[in-house]
Amino acid sequence: MADKLLPRPAATLLLLRDGSLGPEALLLQRAHSAAFLAGAHVFPGGALDKADREVRVLRRVAGITDAEASARLGIEAGGIAYWVAGIRECFEESGILLAEGEDGRPVDAARAAALAPCRGQLHAGKLAFHEFLEKERLLLSGRALAYFGHWVTAPGRARRFDTRFFLALAPEAQVGTHDGTELVASDWLRPLDAIEREARGEIQLVFATKNTLADLVRFARAKDALEHAREAEVETNRACWALGPDGAAALFRRRDPQYFEIHWCDPEETGQTSVALEPGVAKRLDPFVTRVIAPNPGMMTGPGTNTYLVGETELAVIDPGPAIDAHIAAVLAVGAGRIRWVLCTHTHLDHSPAAAAIKSATGAVLIGRPAPEHPGQDRGFTPDRVMGHGDRFMFAGLSLRALHTPGHASNHLCYLLENTRMLFTGDHVMQGSTVVINPPDGDMRAYLESLEQLLGEDILILAPGHGFLIGEPHREARRLLRHRLAREQKVVWALERLRAPTPEELVTEVYDDVAPRLHGVALRSLSAHLEKLAAEGRARAAEGRWSLVQSSMVE
Ligand SMILES: [Zn+2]
Repeated sequence: MADKLLPRPAATLLLLRDGSLGPEALLLQRAHSAAFLAGAHVFPGGALDKADREVRVLRRVAGITDAEASARLGIEAGGIAYWVAGIRECFEESGILLAEGEDGRPVDAARAAALAPCRGQLHAGKLAFHEFLEKERLLLSGRALAYFGHWVTAPGRARRFDTRFFLALAPEAQVGTHDGTELVASDWLRPLDAIEREARGEIQLVFATKNTLADLVRFARAKDALEHAREAEVETNRACWALGPDGAAALFRRRDPQYFEIHWCDPEETGQTSVALEPGVAKRLDPFVTRVIAPNPGMMTGPGTNTYLVGETELAVIDPGPAIDAHIAAVLAVGAGRIRWVLCTHTHLDHSPAAAAIKSATGAVLIGRPAPEHPGQDRGFTPDRVMGHGDRFMFAGLSLRALHTPGHASNHLCYLLENTRMLFTGDHVMQGSTVVINPPDGDMRAYLESLEQLLGEDILILAPGHGFLIGEPHREARRLLRHRLAREQKVVWALERLRAPTPEELVTEVYDDVAPRLHGVALRSLSAHLEKLAAEGRARAAEGRWSLVQSSMVE
């Protein structure tokens, strides 16, 4: 059953202090009788209250305006209420108050102790928050909070929250104590200790708490974590359930490679989509697209080649894959007499060879670009229709627009399904690995231009030739561009340092972050980088040894 609960806006405040062994976070244990997350250790926080938006409260926030707060959260207005909620909930639940007097002096331990009786009254609604702040002449310390995380609870719980996470240094000498009703214990725990205690079954941590703690393990001092949080690019983690390779339900966060595929395939958030990449098992990705993975896993092909069947009553196959009988049979079975066209992104041996068998079985029309005269090409692929850049192939209400994207292969096409803005990328972009650029057919300069080309297209999701669907297409293209240019920079540095090295000498330096068993493959991409530098007049080869062209010689 899909959970139709709308997530409620909420704020959580992660307080950090420096212990003798490193930063410690305040974790409160929820009562076993609590309606939500019973027994779990959580950071202080809770849902936004109407009072958090009241003008009389907002007037008493120091150090941040609503415009600044809203911009940081990426919302139009009202962002400051999250700062208020974080501070208010933290005070109610832990007794620690991030506030200052009207004279700018922060609330110290003695003052916090004196204010403690107000916690219960606030929590019970007997004292309005604005009254409390006005009576005690307090201002909330808005600048103490750094916004650094955004989590939406996965469906399936009694309540769902859309929670903004804030980090703050615990005020000096304020120790705090749990409220004793909803919360039955409070602990200052090192992030790693908390994670290990959870693993031993000693405490309970929910998904967002555990992941947030894991993100903090690397900081040596609380201040470092705060500085990082102030600069952090915050991503929304819409936690999602899916069936893992063993068939059991598992939770995923944004940085997991399955994340965008889960959301694309399961917009209703039923949790029933599978994230197994299993050869021969057809997976319906959306109403128009089904994926069948070929049984050719390997170093260059990841889990195997993805073959996509697109359409409803009549189908176009994109990248039929290698000529493996079992795979051809699987594709024909899913096609069930509806296959009319076969489109190839390029003619490498893991992408196009099954086209011939599918054509002879179905009479399908072959679409793509002929193979160039280079080794490793499927020279048997002869398209009935040759697609050029911008050409549209329309069928049964769907439109596939070809983008010529040379680089990985000179005849490489991507196809944009304009109805849903899914881009079939072939090997222009693959998930889980960077693609090999193998000269002479592979061309690094062309590859970078073809990546830049994607930035000009309105695309929602990438359907690669290998691996899961990839989200945030422009971000991915920019990431790949950065990666290639960083690699190029390493080539330049190595050429400066080494004396006229051979490519074999260069590869161990330039790919020192890549396992030596992959250096043979890396050598091909390295030669693509060198040829790009040569074409730009920045490097040259003599008798198999490479050197930089001095810039004075260029000028
Ligand atoms: Zn390829």
